[in-house]
Amino acid sequence: MRKQIAAANWKMNLTYPQAENLLTDVLNAQIELKEDQQAIFAVPSPYLMMANAAVASKDNYFIAAQNCYNKESGAYTGEISTEMLHSLNIEYCVIGHSERREYFGESNQMLAEKINLCLEFEITPIFCCGEPLTIREAATQNNYVENQLRESLFHLTPDQLQKIVIAYEPIWAIGTGKTASTEQAQEMHAYLRSVLAKQYGQNLADNISILYGGSVKSGNAKELFSCEDVDGGLVGGASLIAADFIKIIQSLK
Ligand code: PEP
Repeated sequence: MRKQIAAANWKMNLTYPQAENLLTDVLNAQIELKEDQQAIFAVPSPYLMMANAAVASKDNYFIAAQNCYNKESGAYTGEISTEMLHSLNIEYCVIGHSERREYFGESNQMLAEKINLCLEFEITPIFCCGEPLTIREAATQNNYVENQLRESLFHLTPDQLQKIVIAYEPIWAIGTGKTASTEQAQEMHAYLRSVLAKQYGQNLADNISILYGGSVKSGNAKELFSCEDVDGGLVGGASLIAADFIKIIQSLK
């Protein structure tokens, strides 16, 4: 059975004390997660160890890095390797967020390399995909997102692919307050699952978690997560407010 996941993406927000308080507030809500439910916090790199210690005793709570580099080690000042993350017992890493694609020029090929390194060091990639507004307006979003999957993921063996979490994040909905409708989200998630099924078989496709991201809020999470092919969310802005993210976790099906 595939996992239902509420993943927070804090981005470049919060001072260290603010991050500690936010995590404490969410954990103090004592939400009992079912066996197939997870809450993940993608925190800024300097907070990884603190955050991992905070969730250590909590079942089904995990910490993610927001990025890693596409080389194993060496003279890449300022970068963070998957081996380093592994040595900190970090189990997840967000890969290919649209902000990284846009501001740091990350290509599908580069993301394929990052995915490989994550898997080599036993880190589950949360692979982000999604189309910009121009593509949505031209109604070519299915091809666009399918191509992102093909170029970054489809070199993987079935064994490797089943370790990936996918996050569909239409760029026009990220941080804009404009959420995809449940119909738009379900349609794309079902399409992506059909693409995975064609390439890897229905059984494997049915076991991949596909999260929705783009202005998920406490007020719309339940409706979005109720869609058959939506397995939770990757949440930016609303994950910075404890009460909101608590409600979002509680909205998992
Ligand atoms: C994100 O950063 O992945 C995101 C979906 O942001 P927001 O929830 O703020 O739209």
